Amino acid sequence: MKLLSIKECELFQKKVFIRCDFNVPMDEFGNITDDRRIRSALATIKYCLDQECAIILASHFGRPKGGVFSQEDSLHHVARRLHQLLKMDVTLAPDVVGDETKALAANLKHGEILLLENLRFEIGETKNDAALSAQLASLAEVYINDAFGVSHRAHASVAGITDHFDAQHKAAGFLLLKEIEFFDTLLERPTRPFAAIVGGSKVSGKLQALLHLLPRVDKILIGGGMAFTFLKALGHDVGNSLVEDELMEEAKEVMAEARTLGVKFYLPVDVIIADKFQSDAHTRAVSIQEIPDGWMGLDIGRATVELYRQVLENVETVLWNGPMGVFEMEKFAKGSNKIAHIVADMDATTVVGGGDTADLVQRVGVDEDMSFISTGGGASLELLEGKVLPGVKPLMK
Ligand code: AMP
Repeated sequence: MKLLSIKECELFQKKVFIRCDFNVPMDEFGNITDDRRIRSALATIKYCLDQECAIILASHFGRPKGGVFSQEDSLHHVARRLHQLLKMDVTLAPDVVGDETKALAANLKHGEILLLENLRFEIGETKNDAALSAQLASLAEVYINDAFGVSHRAHASVAGITDHFDAQHKAAGFLLLKEIEFFDTLLERPTRPFAAIVGGSKVSGKLQALLHLLPRVDKILIGGGMAFTFLKALGHDVGNSLVEDELMEEAKEVMAEARTLGVKFYLPVDVIIADKFQSDAHTRAVSIQEIPDGWMGLDIGRATVELYRQVLENVETVLWNGPMGVFEMEKFAKGSNKIAHIVADMDATTVVGGGDTADLVQRVGVDEDMSFISTGGGASLELLEGKVLPGVKPLMK
């Protein structure tokens, strides 16, 4: 997939609007707990500074209610972190497209940075409102999208705004380019053998991705809650484990399709079971043939970890999307942690989907050992489903 690239854009001394994804996690004291998304945008911002641009940055943050300003959803903490990382002044606008903000944007000089307030303080942002798109576009001469994490949403600052710029005046930033190119190579030209590790809560959330991956991979390793729908479809008693009965037929079809295509399809052989979905639950390690009534599987067991280790041994490319268990609770995090170490130690291209899996890998402390960690959970899942993202389509050549 070929995208309009920031490298090919005439940027010298232009006023440029960069849509970023600064939707960073915060603790209860208002501290940013992980600034990966802000750091990921620096390459594009610094490139524009080198081109002596006047830079307008824009992002959403959280889910402010009713499109009104609130201090807790303000981007002031992002402005502060940008200032620390760039070692230069970053002016935070009072709002998104108010008169004062428009004047600040109009008077912005080369080498200066203006950060708009949270885009979702405008109710039209998530509605892809035409008037808001036009107002945002009127602030700058060039549009750059570097917000991979929100490119699967048809929002005003991601989709509608692109109608106002011709192909010479809009492009993908370095982060967006990297994300799209990585997933494109992964899905179209992977080095084989290629294995996908797919976990998470439900089959329904990953069904489309599984169907799109099947003809492209050599092996699929299943973990997480979704394993139990497959196991039940094979006739196992899975007790109170998470099961989507309505997807049993689809689960059977996925397994049949894997057989037809010669894709090796692996399910857990043992699990950690609990008597309730709580961190103080009683737990036991059992084979999947031995799940008693009333108990639920909340993590993969030791034998499964060993099996998956062996299965991954000769693999050249790994994609990992979704935890192997309820990793938020320590008792059920071991399977995911061990898989994280196994993947990190592999002599292979290792790609981690965004969201939970990215958090997990970071928490385990092996993020530096992965080839690529996506910054977008929902967006990367849609790429795995074979979709063209609404924020990416207008930037295709
Ligand atoms: P997803 O958003 O579909 O990727 O799912 C991530 C969630 O799946 C995490 O919050 C995990 O706690 C949850 N999960 C993983 N394994 C299980 C399981 N065996 N039973 C219930 N939930 C699970």
